[in-house]
Amino acid sequence: MNLILLGAPGAGKGTQGKNLSERYRIPQISTGDILRANVRSKTPLGLKAREFMDKGALVPDDIVVGMVSDRIREEDAGGGFILDGFPRNLNQAEVLEATLARMDKKIDRVIGMEVERKELVRRLSGRRVCRKCGASYHVIFSPPMNIGMCDKCGSEIYQRDDDKQETIEARLAVYEKETLPLVEYYAKKDLYAAVDGIGTVDQITKNIVGAIEGRSNT
Ligand code: AMP
Repeated sequence: MNLILLGAPGAGKGTQGKNLSERYRIPQISTGDILRANVRSKTPLGLKAREFMDKGALVPDDIVVGMVSDRIREEDAGGGFILDGFPRNLNQAEVLEATLARMDKKIDRVIGMEVERKELVRRLSGRRVCRKCGASYHVIFSPPMNIGMCDKCGSEIYQRDDDKQETIEARLAVYEKETLPLVEYYAKKDLYAAVDGIGTVDQITKNIVGAIEGRSNT
């Protein structure tokens, strides 16, 4: 099963991607996570991507598309994958479709996580993440047990540079302009299912599973 999780920054794609990855035993492929790992290790790709990420802009398609094409060819993705944060514009969606077709594969379902803008800003501005395992917290709504320390692995938690106020606005504007048209793109292909992104993590997972399994044989 090949899935796409679509939604604005802060909609909960990362959190839900993790749950779905465990449930279906298929990898979560987060382009944001792969890019951040490259930035951390100062690879040539990371150095190039960083200037775009810091501004809240999209990293050029050729970089991201190449990264995803390589990743979906890895063995663990053979039985399916969950794309989180990709595609983010029409060109990426079209290239993905062509790449999958060459592999005799296709996207089975696109889940759109819907959250209103005010809530997205609230979530992003208070978000803190673990440097090591990527677990996500919120300073007010789900703080870690010990300040600055991840409950799951004990590593340091931090605020992503692009979760600062100015960059949040830029990222949401990019989402609305570049990514939102994908809702119609996938709806036309009868692949799109909208899921309410407000609620408890478990409730939202249930809704997503319902949306996937209602159509799992198509
Ligand atoms: P995310 O963790 O998904 O919010 O992504 C963080 C940043 O990585 C974005 O603001 C972009 O700069 C970059 N990025 C992640 N995925 C993509 C993509 N599919 N295309 C272009 N840039 C991306």
